Amino acid sequence: MTEHATRESDVLVIGSGLHGSSSAFHLARRGVTVTVLEADYVGRHASGVNAGGVRTLGRPLPEIPLALMSREIWHDLVATIGDDAGFVASGQLKIAETDAELDECRERVALLEAQGFTHEKIIDRETVRELEPALAPHVTGGIWVERDGYALPFRATTAFRLAAQKHGAQFHEDTPATRIEQRGSHWVVDTPRGVFSARHLVVAAGAWAGELAQQVGEPVPVHPEGLMLMVTHRVAPFCRATLGATGRPLSFKQFDNGTVVIGGKLIGIADLQARHGEVDFARLVKSANTVVELFPHLRHLGINRAWAGVEAFTDDALPVISSSRRASNLTYTFGYCGSGFQLGPGCGKLVSELVMDGVASLPLDAFAIDRFGKTTEASH
Ligand SMILES: Cc1cc2nc3c(=O)[nH]c(=O)nc-3n(C[C@H](O)[C@H](O)[C@H](O)COP(=O)(O)OP(=O)(O)OC[C@H]3O[C@@H](n4cnc5c(N)ncnc54)[C@H](O)[C@@H]3O)c2cc1C
Repeated sequence: MTEHATRESDVLVIGSGLHGSSSAFHLARRGVTVTVLEADYVGRHASGVNAGGVRTLGRPLPEIPLALMSREIWHDLVATIGDDAGFVASGQLKIAETDAELDECRERVALLEAQGFTHEKIIDRETVRELEPALAPHVTGGIWVERDGYALPFRATTAFRLAAQKHGAQFHEDTPATRIEQRGSHWVVDTPRGVFSARHLVVAAGAWAGELAQQVGEPVPVHPEGLMLMVTHRVAPFCRATLGATGRPLSFKQFDNGTVVIGGKLIGIADLQARHGEVDFARLVKSANTVVELFPHLRHLGINRAWAGVEAFTDDALPVISSSRRASNLTYTFGYCGSGFQLGPGCGKLVSELVMDGVASLPLDAFAIDRFGKTTEASH
């Protein structure tokens, strides 16, 4: 066999972030042969460097069934993949800082309840204080989800990769897919390390997936953003819940080791070509100020490290989880818009169902790849 002979499997997955690794795991455990191609290394991009929030709270309506299903896998991770990925069921709390914001929270919870979703609960000022006594006294209440939490991103992605490998999946790092083409009944993928072929192809290429969909003639309005996070020095435990806010961007959690991770829609610089995210320090200041307003005792706490990860955003802020509408045996899973970590374990299962059964066990219409074309046509 020459070095560049075609390598064959049942399913080829492009991208080994959490979504590619989880898809590979769920597929391999159903008994098919799976090969994963990764341009860099497993977990190098958004999946390995995110804030680790395992949050069903605040999801757009179509995502809620997926997020609730995924959350159950997070709670059962040891039995599922043999590693807890550092998951802590800390609860997630979205605070309101004014009476008007608390009314907004009440409207949101009433809307969800009318749809049959009861996981988000309104809590008043006193209950917030009981849960998180260190929070500034102006907080008026909020929304609480007890079974949400956080996990360790790189460990979670690695754990899914290792679990997939235990079921026989093969991972090829430093192996970018440069060209994808369906020839007869097979997908053929060119890489600098040779040609790979499979009956089924899964595109889980994060911020780079749009270029691959384009090759198939299915353009998607997806663009990259460099999302930033910062982590503080260690400080004595003062906050158990993972926090967000109603009136301003915030993503906040204290890990067991005392460090605090701060984010919340902090946009830095994304360079797709260089496969790299760059920190814009000036923009970090706003979030640091928000945190000090909520926890005044942190005002002297130092920042230890800041970084940016490249994430894929779609025009309607929903991911693409979809069979191709133009080619057979092609499945897409990308465009998670800053909140795909929580969805990873569950969406990998849904992708395996699309590949193996042709249909998923939860409704995916809102995530169809052709929805953007429909919107554009409708608006003309
Ligand atoms: C700073 C930050 C904070 C976040 N915080 C949270 C949070 O708290 N909670 C939450 O739920 N979500 C969060 N997210 C979002 C979450 O990280 C992403 O939605 C999720 O990780 C996307 O996973 P993915 O597998 O689709 O993409 P990625 O992790 O980007 O993986 C895609 C992979 O595909 C590879 N690839 C691309 N093109 C090719 C190619 N041609 N050939 C081979 N390989 C290729 C890439 O190298 C990459 O490894 C955050 C994101 C960032 C950046």
